Order: sequence, then C-alpha cells, then structure tokens
Amino acid sequence: MKDFSYTRVASLDEARVLAAHAGAMLLAGGTTLVDLAKCGVAMPDEVVDITHLDGLDAIKVDRDGAYLGALAKMSHVADDARIRKEFPAVSEALWQAASAQLRNMATIGGNLMQRTRCAYFRDPASFPACNKRHPGSGCAALGGVTRNHAVLGTSSYCIATNPGDLAVALTAFDAVIHLGERRIAVDDFFLLPGATPHQEHAVEPGEIITAVTIPASAAAKRSTYLKVRDRQSYEFAASSAAVGLELEADGKTIRDVRVALGGVATKPWRAREVEAHLKGKTLAAETVKRASLLAMESAVAQGDNHYKIDLAPRVITRAILKVGGIA
Ligand code: FAD
Ligand code: SF4
Repeated sequence: MKDFSYTRVASLDEARVLAAHAGAMLLAGGTTLVDLAKCGVAMPDEVVDITHLDGLDAIKVDRDGAYLGALAKMSHVADDARIRKEFPAVSEALWQAASAQLRNMATIGGNLMQRTRCAYFRDPASFPACNKRHPGSGCAALGGVTRNHAVLGTSSYCIATNPGDLAVALTAFDAVIHLGERRIAVDDFFLLPGATPHQEHAVEPGEIITAVTIPASAAAKRSTYLKVRDRQSYEFAASSAAVGLELEADGKTIRDVRVALGGVATKPWRAREVEAHLKGKTLAAETVKRASLLAMESAVAQGDNHYKIDLAPRVITRAILKVGGIA
C-alpha cells in the first residue's frame, strides 16, 4: 500500500480545490476506491473525503422530474417510493446492482464514476499492457479472453465495457449530470474510448458531481430494467436494457419508446435505431423483435463475446414486451 494524505473537507469548494491536484481522488462511499486500491489500479496521493458534506444526499421528485444528490445512497434511491412509481427502471437498475451491503455504502456520484471490470485492467501485476491504465501500452484483452467485453463502441485501443446499471437507465431517460453549475447530458458525460480510453468521462480536474436530474416523462413512468447475467445476484450484466414506453390513446400505437443498453458497449448505449423504427408502429411481438435486431447492426464481436450480439436483441424484446403488457 502506498502512503497517501487524507483530508476530511469542510466544504464543496475546498473539495474542488483539492480534487484538482494530480493524484487526488474523492472518497464518497469508497466501494470502488478501496476495491481499485487493493488490486493496485488506484494509487492516490491524496484522498479527499466528501462523505459528510451537507445537502448532497437529497432525493426529490416533483412534476418536472427527479433530483438525486450525488451523495444519495444507491439503496435509498432504489427504495424511494416516488422513484419506484415515476422511474421504475431507475429503481430496478439500482436494486440489481452490486449487493445490499455495497448499495448501503455506495453513492450515486461514485456509481457513475466506477471503472470497468475488464480483468486485464484490474490485474496490473500480471498484465502491464492496458491503454486505459497506461496510455500507449497496448491492450491485453485483444487476443485474450473477451467473454465480458464490449461489442459496441469499441476501438482498436480498448474494448472494455462500462459496467454500471444506473447509468443505463439514466441514458434511456435523458438524465443530466450536474457538475456544480455546469450541466451535461448523460450521453455526453460518458466518452467513447477511441484512441484515448483513459478518458472515460467529461469531468474536468477539480469538478465534482453534485447531482443528477431526470426529466419526468410518460415513458420513464412506464419503464423497466432487465439485466441478464451469469448468476441472479451480485453480478455485472452480460446484457441489460432499460426501456420505457408510451402508447397513444388507442392503447396499441407506440408514441414514445426509449431503449438503452448495458453490458455490451464501452459506454451506456442508447439504441436510437430501435426507437426510431418502433415509433408510430403498432405494439406487436414480431415488430419489436425485428426492431431490436437493429441495435446490433454496428456490433463487432471480439472472439468470445459473439453471444452478446444474439443476446442483446432478446433482452430488448423481452423488456419492451414486458412494459407493453404482452409478455
Ligand atoms: P467511491 O468508491 O467513493 O468513488 C468511486 C470513484 O468516483 C472514485 O474515483 C471517486 O474519486 C469518484 N467520485 C466519487 N464521488 C464523486 C463525485 N461526487 N464527483 C466526482 N467523482 C466522484 N455497480 C453496478 O452498477 N452494478 C453492479 O452489478 C455492481 N456490482 C459490484 C460488485 C462489487 C463486488 C463491487 C465492489 C462493486 C460493484 N458495483 C456495481 C460498483 C459499485 O456500484 C460502485 O463501487 C459504487 O457505486 C461506487 O460508489 P461509491 O460511492 O462507493 O464510490
Ligand atoms: Fe485495458 Fe481496455 Fe484493453 Fe481492458 S480492454 S486491457 S481496459 S485497454
């Protein structure tokens, strides 16, 4: 273990100043930070403790939407009756993430900043080559075991999946990330790897996530999060989908549909082709099945992860039919 300094900050402004230092890391719930420190990926010089800062753990819901403070615990948001009613996919995504103990510690801001579960990334002693850890060092996953890796949004520099569940639901419903005064759409918050996979978020040095807002919508209210994984709890997604549906007054024509994918892409992935194809159509199993295939048109398999190209459309179909009351 490397020595580091620890500061329990008195204010958000103090936290911003310290967080701007090279080698500084924020401590929120600590569940990612400690995990990465143990496997030798995170070696902060300075730990900036924001756990106790006032006013950052609020959960509010009104007619315009939801406001989730960055320090709100995953379990509190998942269990909030207003979130369960107005944003079921958000609550379900959180319930299916990690374990009860982790959800009681982990925060909304920390969850969005978690790192990939790529096994090569997390084992620097055995695999020095990782462009995400050390830009320009190569990618040990390419040519390795790729069962858990991405098929969408990959580059020749990195094929790691974004592992978060909450972020998928936020992407489906156009959430906005608050970095103090600066606001950024969730789809722009997460970056594609391209040639710079070490840059994962649009967070500048010294910026801190203060809240997430989710606009109210009929699709968010009629939504679900379906997560398929190797075991039914305490496991990351092999493929997941957050979907929302709004029907016309006739009860069968699709007015609005939202689809975002997890477990298959390098960032939480909005499947806009599927949405565009379904809008205005009559809700029917065959139509949904055909539209779901469009999500994988640009997918590229890397060895062991070809199964995701077959699995993801099935997950989308099942989720849409469930919210549509057909399954
Ligand atoms: P911390 O560990 O405190 O911080 C994480 C990172 O975010 C650090 O780099 C920190 O500097 C930064 N940070 C924290 N707060 C802020 C902020 N407000 N602004 C800017 N940066 C900030 N997640 C899932 O989604 N699905 C799963 O199935 C899942 N399974 C898991 C299984 C295990 C065994 C473990 C250990 C984790 C799992 N997780 C899963 C990840 C877990 O949800 C995250 O570890 C957790 O959400 C991180 O939140 P935290 O508050 O503990 O973050
Ligand atoms: Fe590193 Fe990305 Fe390659 Fe994994 S896939 S080893 S995170 S560069």
